[in-house]
Amino acid sequence: MSKNQNKTGSYSFFNCIEKNFDKAARFISIEKGLLEQIKACNSVYRMHFPVKIGKEVKVIEAYRVQHSHHKLPCKGGIRYSMKVNQDEIMTLAALMTYKCAIVDVPFGGAKGGIKIDPQTISSENIEKITRRYTSELIKKNFIGPGIDVPAPDYGTGEREMSWIFDTFLSLRSGDVDALACVTGKPVSQGGVRGRKEATGLGVFYGIRELCHVKEDMYSVGLDVGLVGKKIIIQGLGNVGYHAASFFHESGAVIIALAEREGAIYNEKGLNVSKVFLHLKNNGSILNFPEAKNIENTEKALELECDILIPAALENVIHKNNANRIKAKIIGEAANGPITPEADEILDKKGVIIVPDIYLNAGGVTVSYFEWIKNLSHVRYGRMEKKFRENVNAEFLKVIETVCKKKISIEEKKMILRGPREIDLVRSGLEDTMINGFHKIRDLKKSLKIENMRTAAFVLSINKIIDSYEKLGIFP
Ligand code: GLU
Repeated sequence: MSKNQNKTGSYSFFNCIEKNFDKAARFISIEKGLLEQIKACNSVYRMHFPVKIGKEVKVIEAYRVQHSHHKLPCKGGIRYSMKVNQDEIMTLAALMTYKCAIVDVPFGGAKGGIKIDPQTISSENIEKITRRYTSELIKKNFIGPGIDVPAPDYGTGEREMSWIFDTFLSLRSGDVDALACVTGKPVSQGGVRGRKEATGLGVFYGIRELCHVKEDMYSVGLDVGLVGKKIIIQGLGNVGYHAASFFHESGAVIIALAEREGAIYNEKGLNVSKVFLHLKNNGSILNFPEAKNIENTEKALELECDILIPAALENVIHKNNANRIKAKIIGEAANGPITPEADEILDKKGVIIVPDIYLNAGGVTVSYFEWIKNLSHVRYGRMEKKFRENVNAEFLKVIETVCKKKISIEEKKMILRGPREIDLVRSGLEDTMINGFHKIRDLKKSLKIENMRTAAFVLSINKIIDSYEKLGIFP
């Protein structure tokens, strides 16, 4: 057993990404040292700070890792989980670098984490911890609109981002761009419409695009299109929930949903909003009236289905269960849900894996839109909405005159409408996901790369090399 392997025989999370990187490096002809520079984590900030919780002083362990500075600011979420450790945060920061490059978002990758279980801590104490963590980042210059911009991740959301912004502003008062120090904020606090559901919607757009490619669908014995496809989603957090809702609305059949406490199954399909209501009211998805319980949640991954969407944590598909996975397509909504050993097993079985560094990039794409909005201090659509409506109205008048036909009020309403912020954000996201998919697929075909993950890494590394070259660092 090598020093990189733990007792289950799997590699450390960072080694997993290095392995994926090395597979891609075979298709790139550039000096080895330069590839090593791209692969390495530039800065790792590990901190411990005290927080008074009740009558006790607790020492909190936390991290912020900046994987790459080839573009600035660095960008990536902050997660709250008891599983947080340096290896995990370094890996997730690296994934952010590759992800941003694929979707042409001009940031270096970063990630943060605090080792706490937010479900067992009161919101007052989560706030204290979040504010203290933010001031630690400020002290070391690890946060700022042009330095490093956090966002939500596993266990965090709009609430935490508001606290981060408020702490930043109180320590940097007068900074006119302070809003851009963090993304994923509530709309009332400078957030952008559409950020909350962006990762899940991006997952939906990516899988929908794949399902419309005849050649790929036939290669796994499926029909073209999403309608009627049987889908299993693991994780009903922000990403899983929104992805499930979009799939459900588009006519796909969600046959199983898995959470920490167990999974639920209905071959005919689950109504996602009803399940979510049940989860809200009961604190668990189990015992949903229109479904069967599956006590061992891991078993849900192994059910017969067309598409499996792991949308929770890393390494859930590993060498011990990969052989039992029956899905024909796996969409990695989570970061790193498949270990390299499992990847090879699934590849041999002919499963199409849509990789995390592309598929879950919707979140950071819309974070980019939010950052731009904050720096430009104006809501998307504010300047052009009415102008477009006026131009459209003139245009319609001409058409009505030329055609000698009146257009109905309903049709007029639809055609006249100028773009709102949500329309622009969603169209930007849709376009990004569609383009990203085809760039990866075209590269895979032209270089005869074995799978989408390696092709995605090749695409991403080439873009990073290009920026280093333009910076004049790589001759
Ligand atoms: N945490 C998300 C991710 O892993 C979003 C990061 C961001 O928006 O900066 O992609």
